[in-house]
Amino acid sequence: MIKVGLVSLGCAKNLIDSEIMIGHLREAGMEMTPNEREADVLIVNTCSFIDMAKRESIGTVEDAIDGRATDKKRQRQKIIVAGCLSQRFSKELPGLMPEVDAFIGLDQITQVAPIIEGLLGKKKTADQPDNLVTKQPRYIPDYDTPRFRLTPKHMAYVKVAEGCNHTCSFCIIPKIRGRHRSRTQESIVKEVEQLVKSGVKEINLISQDLTYFGMDKWTEARPNPRSPVDSSRGESLATLLRAINAIPGDFWIRLLYTHPAHWSDELIQTIAECPKVARYVDMPLQHISDRMLKIMQRETGGDYIRDLIRRIRAGIPGIAVRTTFIVGFPGETKEDFEELIEFIRETRFERAGVFRYSREEGTKAYKFDGKVHHKTIESRWNRAMVELQVVAEELNATQVGKKHRVLVEKPGLARTEWDAPEIDATVMVDKKIPVGTFADVAIKDWRGYDLVAAR
Ligand code: SF4
Repeated sequence: MIKVGLVSLGCAKNLIDSEIMIGHLREAGMEMTPNEREADVLIVNTCSFIDMAKRESIGTVEDAIDGRATDKKRQRQKIIVAGCLSQRFSKELPGLMPEVDAFIGLDQITQVAPIIEGLLGKKKTADQPDNLVTKQPRYIPDYDTPRFRLTPKHMAYVKVAEGCNHTCSFCIIPKIRGRHRSRTQESIVKEVEQLVKSGVKEINLISQDLTYFGMDKWTEARPNPRSPVDSSRGESLATLLRAINAIPGDFWIRLLYTHPAHWSDELIQTIAECPKVARYVDMPLQHISDRMLKIMQRETGGDYIRDLIRRIRAGIPGIAVRTTFIVGFPGETKEDFEELIEFIRETRFERAGVFRYSREEGTKAYKFDGKVHHKTIESRWNRAMVELQVVAEELNATQVGKKHRVLVEKPGLARTEWDAPEIDATVMVDKKIPVGTFADVAIKDWRGYDLVAAR
């Protein structure tokens, strides 16, 4: 039996691709092994969103190559590089890493089993690896796509669309993952039904731009973001949420990666009326200064964002808004940064993070003038993080004495609906509460970003 090892790097979207590859490998009768030494084939599913991720991916591939070169047991092992790195640098990598046996892209994840069979049946004669990456990926999974979940039994990621039609000047994702393409609502609902039946308690809906779900198929454009009749134009995140909310069972639906430009009053009302949708929205804002939003090509302005947050908070009581910002983008002045700090102070985000700008080859911003000195980026990042931490601690202090419904993640550790897996805070709970169940707990204390529940 062919044994395959797989290292999955990067975000939840990449994790789903790994799950799909494993699903297809198992269906083809191959065995997965956690032991790299035993693997006939080792797949590295890479990330290359920002420089740090790229370096981690390259390091992991190099470790695999070195491990094979120095270990007699692995001499015949084949190495496949998949994911965003091989998609992004499909031209350059085969020349730079001739030791790799094949590079595959996003369109090849369902063909990984025949690709492996081909590699194992073939003597390596070419001086360059097979490069199977297609330039403009089009693949999108369906509800019956073979998939082996790598997340805990009680939670799952569901990819509702792939790709992105935005042109944010700092971002390489549209060039890697292609144009936005939504699944059908029916396909997603069928997948969620299966997951809920199998015991999943938290459905995390993901895509590059969740709020654009369905809109790529609309024949008529939306007149404006305040339009109350979006779903009359076709499927949308609002229609999808109502359909998933109607599935019987006790589970949370969590929205990750929404873009501020596509929020509508209909979506706000829908979330308010769907009790299974967690009172949590993840909406990366990147900045608040009009000047920065314009050069970042975010399709939104400061006033629009402030008004949107006001409408979301007024329309969905108890909502936690999670966001991320970028500091040190080319051209960011002291005034732009101070405006951002002021915005953080006045908005008091329930959850937030800050990224240092990462200059990415192939993006528009790569060639922008006005680079910010790395020491300035560091000090801005530190200041913004301190501001966010102050708010987080003040908010945590207000939770003492309150009751929360939590989902137990590990023995003694749980999350509230304000906390996404792997990203946000945790609640320390009684170790006797079974993992994967909901529990109502009272908060008695807090530590940094985390809460402590009474026993
Ligand atoms: S919305 Fe902007 S930041 Fe997000 S994936 Fe698309 S281009 Fe990148």
